[in-house]
Amino acid sequence: MKNPPNPDLMLFKTKKTEVFMDKKTVRDIDVSGKKVLVRCDFNVPQDENGNITDTRRIVGALPTIKYLIEHNAKVILCSHLGRPKGEVKKEFSLKPVKDELSRQLGCEVKLADDIVGESAKTLTSNMKEKEVVLLENVRFDKREEANDREFSKELASLADIYVNDAFGTSHRAHSSTAGVAEFLPAVSGFLIEKEIKFLGDSLNNPQRPFVAILGGKKVSDKISVINNLIDKVDTLIIGGGMAYTFLKAKGLNIGSSICEEDKLDLAKELLEKAKTKNVELLLPVDVNVAKEYDKDAESKIVSADKIEDGWMGLDIGPETIKKYEAVLKNAKTVMWNGPLGVFEFEKFSTGTNEIAKILGNIDATTVIGGGDSAAAIEKAGFADKMTHISTGGGASLEFLEGKVLPGIDCLQDL
Ligand code: AMP
Repeated sequence: MKNPPNPDLMLFKTKKTEVFMDKKTVRDIDVSGKKVLVRCDFNVPQDENGNITDTRRIVGALPTIKYLIEHNAKVILCSHLGRPKGEVKKEFSLKPVKDELSRQLGCEVKLADDIVGESAKTLTSNMKEKEVVLLENVRFDKREEANDREFSKELASLADIYVNDAFGTSHRAHSSTAGVAEFLPAVSGFLIEKEIKFLGDSLNNPQRPFVAILGGKKVSDKISVINNLIDKVDTLIIGGGMAYTFLKAKGLNIGSSICEEDKLDLAKELLEKAKTKNVELLLPVDVNVAKEYDKDAESKIVSADKIEDGWMGLDIGPETIKKYEAVLKNAKTVMWNGPLGVFEFEKFSTGTNEIAKILGNIDATTVIGGGDSAAAIEKAGFADKMTHISTGGGASLEFLEGKVLPGIDCLQDL
């Protein structure tokens, strides 16, 4: 008798999209003299005194803002910062962003005291061309995250055109990331254009061989990514904590390595699916095992089929790196999401660092998902060598899952 379909795999079938549409960008519409509301990602890290410690998100937004200024638009910027949870909280004000933006643009950016209130209305009603106004943190209003239709409408009423340039929040259907597009012509900024180009092209139209590297902690977090990628890649490399659920599913002893017992059947199913689709699925052949989860833990390299009880795998071993390198050297497109070991501990960061180094030296399009993989690449010093590092961890993961991202879906098609 045929096994019933696995609910974990069924879950995402309905939400899947095969190809992302080409979306209009600011270049495709006339912005001259128009009020343009731009959703940016100014969610910058700050120290305890409110000083911005990393300005990259602000710098990343500049090309779209400068383009709009150069083309005589009236620029209205909005963003969230942190998690004020619908309340006005001084520590989450965009004031430091306004100061940094003014400095970077070389012109005064005015900050409204509110989002759609009197201050925002006054500042945006009499704007001159090339002027820039920044609205206060959109998450100061609880209607933002609820994607409240009235709030979206009020926000839209400030402008003539909507531009989404915040990829990192484009997987969220909030008022400023999607809802507002119901009321205004909506196009993408240059940051989202770049994300669609690299993530979308690599996923849907890759140069082959196409290799995906998936690491990270849990299989459960990446089931739908694995499931989607098996339909597209030539080789799937698995590392990190999730490799151990697969190794156990193949009947190996994994000692006290991280394992999701309730995902063993699923892992078997995914291994089977890879076989049916003729996709090479590579698992570690040796691992760096430790006595405990600690940065200074006693450790040794063992073959993946010789993990003893009381030992846990915290990194891939040298033979595995060699095996993965041989495949990566021939690849033409590589996508990477998730570290291959506990890269936060120096002792167990070798696998992740070596893979970063290999990617930095191959002749292929290399696309890195955001979050931990981006941090690992930065830490290893190979960020400049990658074709594209996604600016959104959660958003790029959902993109890889093949899901429709509301903040992109709402934009006009070319
Ligand atoms: P994710 O957020 O799913 O991409 O997981 C990233 C986390 O996975 C990092 O904090 C790593 O330390 C962790 N990780 C990677 N390999 C292992 C492993 N072998 N055992 C436990 N945790 C791991």
